[in-house]
Amino acid sequence: MFLCIPIPGPGLDSVRSQMTQALKLGTMIEWRLDLFEEIATEELLFLRRHYPLPIVATLKKHRTHFYLRHLQQLQPEIVDVELGIRREEMAEIKKELPHAHVMLSYHDHLHMPEDLNSLLHDMQQLSADYYKIAVTPHNAVEALKLVNFVREVNRVGGTLVGVGMDADGEIARLLAPIMGVPLTYACLDESCQTAPGQLSVDTMRNIYRVQDLSFDSQILGLIGDPVSKRRGYLVHNDVFEQLSLPAVYVRMRINGHELGAFLQEARALKWKGFSVTMPLKETVIPYLDKVDPAAKAIGAVNTIVWEDEQYVGYNFDGIGALEAIEAKRRVKGKLFIVVGAGGAAKAIAYEAKQRGATVVVVNRTYDRAKALADKLSVTVQPFQELQKLLQEADFLAQTTSVGMGHGNEETLITPQDLSKETLVFDAIAIPTETRLIRDAMFRGCEVVTGDKMWLEQARRQFSAWFPGVFSERKILDAYELANSRQP
Ligand code: NAP
Repeated sequence: MFLCIPIPGPGLDSVRSQMTQALKLGTMIEWRLDLFEEIATEELLFLRRHYPLPIVATLKKHRTHFYLRHLQQLQPEIVDVELGIRREEMAEIKKELPHAHVMLSYHDHLHMPEDLNSLLHDMQQLSADYYKIAVTPHNAVEALKLVNFVREVNRVGGTLVGVGMDADGEIARLLAPIMGVPLTYACLDESCQTAPGQLSVDTMRNIYRVQDLSFDSQILGLIGDPVSKRRGYLVHNDVFEQLSLPAVYVRMRINGHELGAFLQEARALKWKGFSVTMPLKETVIPYLDKVDPAAKAIGAVNTIVWEDEQYVGYNFDGIGALEAIEAKRRVKGKLFIVVGAGGAAKAIAYEAKQRGATVVVVNRTYDRAKALADKLSVTVQPFQELQKLLQEADFLAQTTSVGMGHGNEETLITPQDLSKETLVFDAIAIPTETRLIRDAMFRGCEVVTGDKMWLEQARRQFSAWFPGVFSERKILDAYELANSRQP
């Protein structure tokens, strides 16, 4: 697959400088002739000779004749023409440029057509070497439909280029190698972006490693909403690179009502696994083929694995937190206070109890804490009792979202209420040092931060996605190194 870098120009100096950069980064360049200012053919010919990369020359409707004058001398490898071109014009291009391949393109900057099959069939009424469908999916389901369609067409031949535009089209760019496309586009930087949502060469190569992927590579990803601020994809992709795994990890914004259709498309791709985040951890359960008993008891799933053609749900949040905590101290027989009654609280209370702790749950909304406590057979106390409980606590697990986000200084627990004998854990991973964690350190408490929980659950996800392939030591080392490299 060629990584094709658009050269938008518009002036000769810009074209020259963009081509110099592209030569180091890409395997093909696209001359957007429709965006170029009047540049003499001799100048372009000079560049053509001195920059030995294959060229896609992109034309726009109505001016084909004008471009042909240039192209006869420039002899690009591919000429990209728009659907709507007249049959006679197409014949003229083929006659004048007998060595060039012709790509016939369809663009929809607003929607994704319902019936891609009919669209391609209509396009094929005009004979071309390649066809390109560049459309605008409005959600991840549409984007995956595009991926599946292009992949199926390219199963034999590889002549269809599929491009997803805008934010929701992103996965149809990242999964280009898995779609079997002959080429995909990536810009030098934002100032050279020629289509909405086009990603930079740096992102495509250095984060998602498209150059290492192929039709048979495995796909993993995060589903939830919002996902744009989540950074786990950087760690997972770094680990795949360290372990030379032909796999990629992407992020997708999905709502609960899209889950059924999304997983149906994912099944067609044999998508290998997912991390699941808010608000889908509970709502995803009915769409799965099987749920691990611990995840069932917790009532939430944070990991999905494609096992024997079935999607199986697991929950590694609690294990992640308790592994991070028990790396410092064992919880067996100790008083373990959980503040919060949401998804993280359930998973952590479940696992702490499994490991022999005496678990007490408190939450702003008492009824939620009561429901959790009844389900997991642990103790519940009113929120007002927290201060008193903290005097006795061996462990405090803060699992609410209070204090989440950079610059957030909120906390539910005043420093004076903390005993220095208590190990304080905060599930919040961003920021790593929440106000609570700083207060606890100041009081002389041992602390465990939420990023450790994330890391522990992430490597368990990896082991579930790729069972028995690497030793636990190797996985741990790879995740620790990847995590240390993140900004
Ligand atoms: P959730 O299901 O929405 O639960 C949120 C909890 O926070 C509820 O108990 C809620 O209490 C409480 N809460 C929210 N605002 C509050 C306030 N102003 N005062 C008191 N309590 C408040 O969320 P979740 O999925 O459990 O996630 C909770 C936190 O854990 C988030 O910060 C998340 O990022 C973090 N987390 C971290 C990891 C990791 O790997 N480090 C994994 C999962 C989650 P009510 O019931 O009264 O509304």
